[in-house]
Amino acid sequence: MSDQQPAIGRFAPSPTGPLHLGSLSTALASFLQTRSQQGLWLLRIDDLDTPRNIKGAADAILTALDTLGLHWDSNVDYQSQHNDEYHDWLSRLDKNGQLYPCACPRKLLLTDIYPGTCRHRQLPPDSPYALRVKTDPRDIAFQDGLQGFVSHNLATRHGDFILKRKDQIIAYQFAVVIDDHRQQVNQVVRGIDLLEVTPRQIYLQQLLGLTTPAYMHLPIIVDHHGYKLSKQTKATAVDLAAPHHVIFTLLRLLKQNPPAELQQAPVTDQLTWAIAHWNPATLKNLQSIGSP
Ligand code: GLU
Repeated sequence: MSDQQPAIGRFAPSPTGPLHLGSLSTALASFLQTRSQQGLWLLRIDDLDTPRNIKGAADAILTALDTLGLHWDSNVDYQSQHNDEYHDWLSRLDKNGQLYPCACPRKLLLTDIYPGTCRHRQLPPDSPYALRVKTDPRDIAFQDGLQGFVSHNLATRHGDFILKRKDQIIAYQFAVVIDDHRQQVNQVVRGIDLLEVTPRQIYLQQLLGLTTPAYMHLPIIVDHHGYKLSKQTKATAVDLAAPHHVIFTLLRLLKQNPPAELQQAPVTDQLTWAIAHWNPATLKNLQSIGSP
């Protein structure tokens, strides 16, 4: 990284519930990744998918991060404040003939690969429609910081994909590309469950002439049955009464091997140690980690 360009990372939770150990491990890893390079760590609340948002969740997330000593730089960025911007970028793609309306009901699609049914429609359908971006049979490849070389052929693996949903909500795939560009994020650290969507995001960056950040996809934290910790699997919110206990547990989960004497130390000391000793290579090629 040159002097002019600091490392800029971010944590981008969706306000769909309280933070659990899984989401917090992502927060901590991205924090350590940028702080260990004296970079900036930004916080974005991915709140576009309004039907999934839970009232009060965004504030609870901010409080949890703050209590755990994971202090972010700059103001919190809320996706919901950028609707005009997403639409401006969408019209650019539209003007270049890269989008088309699609009214296909989801349940009629037999596979996850969209067969292009609406690509050659002359007129927009009367019923509500989504906007899809045209893909081509190019391979989109990148080198992941932990998972190695990843390459997808978008046309055969996904087909044309949705940038604006039928319910008029901007799709995650598209928003995240615009957000990372606006926030000048150059290092994305997130869960391996998002590895599958990364080539689509890189494709969009290429179409829009935007820079592709470096990506690092972390193993996910799984419960005793091997399921990802998530709201769906009823992962519990972390207990903020003992923040140092949470950070110590997370450092162990992230295989950072914290010394035992740090166990009872305040979070600031734990984080100072963790920044100085951050070694993501311990997580290389791991798909998942069992929770304690
Ligand atoms: N908001 C997304 C989530 O909570 C993460 C976005 C990203 O890291 O790209 O799953």
